[in-house]
Amino acid sequence: KVITRFAPSPTGFLHIGGARTALFNWLFAKHHGGEFHLRIEDTDRKRLTEGAVEAIHEGMAWLGLSHDGDVISQFEQRDRHVEVAQKLLAEGKAYYCYCSPEELTEMREKARAEGKPIGYDGRWRDRDPSEAPEGIKPVVRFKSPNEGQTVIHDKVQGTVTVENTQLDDMILLRADGSPTYMLSVVVDDHDMGVTHVIRGDDHLTNAARQAQLIEAIGWDLPVYAHIPLIHGPDGAKLSKRHGALGVEAYRDMGYLPSALKNYLVRLGWAHGDDEIFSEQQAIEWFSLEGIGKSPSRFDFVKLENLNGYYIREAASNETLVEICRPLIEKNLGRPLTDDEAALLVPAMDEFKPRAKNLNDLAESTLFLFAERPLTMIPKAEKILTEDAKQILTKAIAVLDQAAAWDIESLEADIKAFAENQDLKLGKVAQPLRAALTGSNVSPGIFDILVWLGKTESLARLKDQAA
Ligand code: GLU
Repeated sequence: KVITRFAPSPTGFLHIGGARTALFNWLFAKHHGGEFHLRIEDTDRKRLTEGAVEAIHEGMAWLGLSHDGDVISQFEQRDRHVEVAQKLLAEGKAYYCYCSPEELTEMREKARAEGKPIGYDGRWRDRDPSEAPEGIKPVVRFKSPNEGQTVIHDKVQGTVTVENTQLDDMILLRADGSPTYMLSVVVDDHDMGVTHVIRGDDHLTNAARQAQLIEAIGWDLPVYAHIPLIHGPDGAKLSKRHGALGVEAYRDMGYLPSALKNYLVRLGWAHGDDEIFSEQQAIEWFSLEGIGKSPSRFDFVKLENLNGYYIREAASNETLVEICRPLIEKNLGRPLTDDEAALLVPAMDEFKPRAKNLNDLAESTLFLFAERPLTMIPKAEKILTEDAKQILTKAIAVLDQAAAWDIESLEADIKAFAENQDLKLGKVAQPLRAALTGSNVSPGIFDILVWLGKTESLARLKDQAA
């Protein structure tokens, strides 16, 4: 059974690159009918900020990436990590190292001067602990192989070979007894039953060290897939100066989770030339073989276009209203009534063709719920000349006598009125639009008359009439 995991360090937000890693793990697990687990790598207690773990949960929930089983806290597993280190010590596969900080600095500098890649020379590897100096608390180091090669068969990077002389004896337990990251990851992945490790390729060198450790313990290696990191449009590693990095920022900017998800799937993974696909298709098509070897570039314009597409074509009106409702309420400073929200559902057909993001969309509906008298934007004010106000006064009389308050008959009434006054329809429609919406752009005025209802429509028109 396939078991994948997402193992973020809680930094305060769900990084867009982390979200993609999570998504790939989630898709791969779903594709194989397996499980997707979440492990919070929270061992760095000093850097753990309030709400950092919640931010990860929120980001994942927003993207709809649900995990199986309990969330694992790496910190809470520390006794187990120590236990594994002790076992390695007992088997002679790890050893106590009593080097002083000064000795280590000296060693590192010497290695650097000689151009050697490794920092620690293994001087306590075969020494007897009885030689231990007084007053130094030892660390526990892994006795890593000094000869041969470590080979990783990575599903994305291909065969990666590391000379074992390149890797020094890494620390497993610090002098204070706490386990290191390298040990914790290996033990947690094993204990969680992880079969496939899919993560950023900044962890590729770690993989060789972790593989050595796994082999020494006698466990099976997971399948590795190291995905190239995301770059900005200019080809440099994605950073703040390119744009928002946190998933929640995209939510706040008015992106639909479905659009962001579709965008992220395509970022570094391809299924032919397909650009738009449903979650079901993504699950069906996802494979590690489809992941590219070169870094993908984050294309903000493409994301925006995809978002517009999802708003216009893919999301249901109900979903749009559900997501827009809090944005509208925040803008209005009051809750919408259920009637108002219900009115919006069919109305979305008229609003969504114009919207690029959800903030746009929410904003474009605000006039429906605004208090009278409406504030006119300058372009609307310009429309409402003295002549226009005279037209409004006459139009009010016509509308007041309307036989029925529905789109067809209102349209017939207003057309007849325009003809009667020898006016082009636009000359009547523009002042009506301005008075009803406070703007010069909006959905069709007959729709608006119906949405607002007779009383509110006439009141708004009177506010602006001569
Ligand atoms: N905690 C690591 C990170 O956030 C991930 C480690 C792993 O996936 O093995 O980069």
